[in-house]
Amino acid sequence: MTRFAQTRKVVFWEEPMPARAGSPPALSSKICPDSGVIVATPQLPEGLEGEERDAALKGLLDAMLAGSGSAALLRWYYTPMMLPFSRHLDAACTVYDCMDELANFKFAPPELTILERELFELADVVFTGGYSLWEAKRDRHPNAHPFPSSVDRAHFAKARAAREEPADQANLPWPRLGFYGVVDERMDLDLLAALADARPEWSLVILGPVVKIDPESLPKRPNLHYLGGKSYDELPTYLGGWNVALMPFAINESTRFISPTKTPEYLSGGRPVVSTPIVDVVRHYGDLEAVKIAETAEDFIAACDQALALSRLKGDWLKAVDTKLSALSWDETFTRMNLEISRVLLSREQAKTELMSPGAATDVAMPAIRPAGRAKPYDYMIVGAGFAGSVLAERLASQLGKRVLLVDRRPHVGGNAYDEKDAGGVLMHKYGPHIFHTNSEEVFRYLSQFTKWRPYEHRVLACVKNGLHVPMPINRTTLNMLYGLDLQTEADAEAFLAGRAEPVEKIRTSEDVVISQVGRELYEMFFRGYTRKQWGMDPSELDKAVTARVPTRTNTDDRYFTDQFQAMPLDGYTRMFENMVDQKGITLALGVEYEDVREEADFDRLIFTGPIDEYFDYRYGKLPYRSLRFQHETLDQPWFQPVAVVNYPNEETPYTRVSEYKHMTGQECERTTITYEYPSAEGDPYYPVPRPENQALYKKYEALALDTPEVHFVGRLATYRYYNMDQVTGQALATFRRIAEREGRTVIQAQAAAQAIAAN
Ligand code: FAD
Ligand code: UDP
Repeated sequence: MTRFAQTRKVVFWEEPMPARAGSPPALSSKICPDSGVIVATPQLPEGLEGEERDAALKGLLDAMLAGSGSAALLRWYYTPMMLPFSRHLDAACTVYDCMDELANFKFAPPELTILERELFELADVVFTGGYSLWEAKRDRHPNAHPFPSSVDRAHFAKARAAREEPADQANLPWPRLGFYGVVDERMDLDLLAALADARPEWSLVILGPVVKIDPESLPKRPNLHYLGGKSYDELPTYLGGWNVALMPFAINESTRFISPTKTPEYLSGGRPVVSTPIVDVVRHYGDLEAVKIAETAEDFIAACDQALALSRLKGDWLKAVDTKLSALSWDETFTRMNLEISRVLLSREQAKTELMSPGAATDVAMPAIRPAGRAKPYDYMIVGAGFAGSVLAERLASQLGKRVLLVDRRPHVGGNAYDEKDAGGVLMHKYGPHIFHTNSEEVFRYLSQFTKWRPYEHRVLACVKNGLHVPMPINRTTLNMLYGLDLQTEADAEAFLAGRAEPVEKIRTSEDVVISQVGRELYEMFFRGYTRKQWGMDPSELDKAVTARVPTRTNTDDRYFTDQFQAMPLDGYTRMFENMVDQKGITLALGVEYEDVREEADFDRLIFTGPIDEYFDYRYGKLPYRSLRFQHETLDQPWFQPVAVVNYPNEETPYTRVSEYKHMTGQECERTTITYEYPSAEGDPYYPVPRPENQALYKKYEALALDTPEVHFVGRLATYRYYNMDQVTGQALATFRRIAEREGRTVIQAQAAAQAIAAN
């Protein structure tokens, strides 16, 4: 909230405090001096309950907001219990920041579950306080994101150098093992007693308020010291006086989804930790030597012995701790949360704009203008119903009144962009993830005639050392997470990268591009393995254009693309293609090989969008293409990973990336479908391989093509270019303009004719 308060007015609405019975409801507020966060505390007369209580709170809230100006209102809930007096507010964005499975807590109010259901419906975005909680809640909301606890490292690191000891701890015998936190039903009291009994020479220090459970139920032993609640400021001084920190949580419903913030705090304080197997502790910290996990009392005691022994050693265990901690920061958490909120605000704005709806495009849909007296049944045969073929078929039929035979060997339209619902009902991309992005307004407007759009900005995480997931392309966040840095500005990040970059005299290869920007270590971590897998060759053997597709950033923008238009066809690519080719004049023949129909089909001209070497019977030999094997899996769970694509750049993992379509499509569905991509030398031609000798071979085929003017070669395979969908669309539109011009009619003339017809 401190960070949000830098750009917004933040009011933190507290639980009400009781006031004298009969006194009027009131609101006291104070401004936190360091952050500017306003803390508002309602004062309600004792005895005010139910609807009256809600009405009083609503009155106080409305009165406070009345003086807040006209800025967009964001509601942020830590508990659904605040909904009854605030559900009426007209908010531009509603956040549910779900910190715990509150319904599993002792004395949870019965209405909590019902209110939580309402909050899930109202919320635009949901954050959860950890991964387990996210797994439990993500099927309840399509826009849920996990945010495991970050840590105020500098604050807790004071424990490492603590000299002065608080008076109530100073005289306790050593060694000391401690816990701080709320002492409630989540604490395993039997375990605590067993530990105290097994090692009477140890001091067990327990800090924190005892709530909901009877203080009398706490085990009493001479070496068990309950020192009561302490302030946040005091914690490091206590922690500094312990050898080992403890998390003796009971393993039950109330701890199933917790993600204890004290784990990284204890570790920041430089203390080994012994914990019972809390899922998120095991998951995030279980690989550290400094974190011992033990379930039974016997194992827990043995683990404490080991942790004590470790605490006496200086060395690698603490280094590994610091590396892990360096990935956690409230700045990152804030940046990501803020981004999710901005996305909600943006999509609301975009939904309002005309551009996002079909029909807004200025291109006039033309009636077919058919030349008379034609001999052949088709003016054009088009081979391939991907972007290149379908765009040209549509333009020729709708704008020039041509009769087009559109054939594809596959049983569907769309080419590699084809999507379909699989057996589990999930909309997925059969040939791997396709994300639409372009800077060409012409291309975007053109396609907008055939589809509505769903705003979508693509984000990719790379899974690097120790399973750490960092933003890809490399940006400032990536650097801060990897190296435990706090680079604040673009200049900081530039300076950091400049210190690692290696000068390259002439940038020719894909290795040169990356090394000259980020140096060898990052190159090896993110690019070498991935590229070797993807292309079956080292980046030093590939043209610079390949890795140059992926930028390096010094800001914290974590979008994969920065294009002006980024969106997914609302009802999928296939529906867009179906709308495109649904024109008078187009005959669609699917599951048909060009080879099989070239003789019988009667046409004037040919447009070929398949591989150019295939067209010329491989006269000069085969052009190399790289292929992929897709392993699609539908999982009986609503979500698999936090973003649409996770890259696996290390060479040991045989696939390059895993894609989860629901992030892209926005589909709400109980199941989820993912795709593993295994690069392969054999199979359908997907990627032209950019190398000088391949380009030279292509040039020979291109010369043949130029000698064959009755055939147009268009698209990724026919022009042997590593083109994206928008580039192929642009190329097809440009080809159409040339055809129209050659026929003596410009598109503008054709449009003018259509307008004249419409006016009459
Ligand atoms: P294609 O889509 O390949 O269409 C050619 C069609 O011709 C095919 O359907 C084929 O069956 C047919 N054909 C070929 N020869 C014959 C024949 N002899 N007889 C009959 N039919 C024939 N681009 C993006 O913009 N964003 C992305 O996120 C993106 N992701 C991608 C991910 C993967 C895994 C791949 C492989 C590509 C990706 N692309 C992406 C690129 C995108 O797929 C292409 O730019 C686009 O599909 C090219 O369209 P096209 O019409 O040129 O070729
Ligand atoms: N690349 C990489 N590591 C990554 C992502 C990309 O080395 O994590 C390299 C790889 O060579 C890849 C190229 O950059 O083929 C282009 O990446 P892009 O995401 O544009 O590939 P595409 O979407 O075409 O598969």
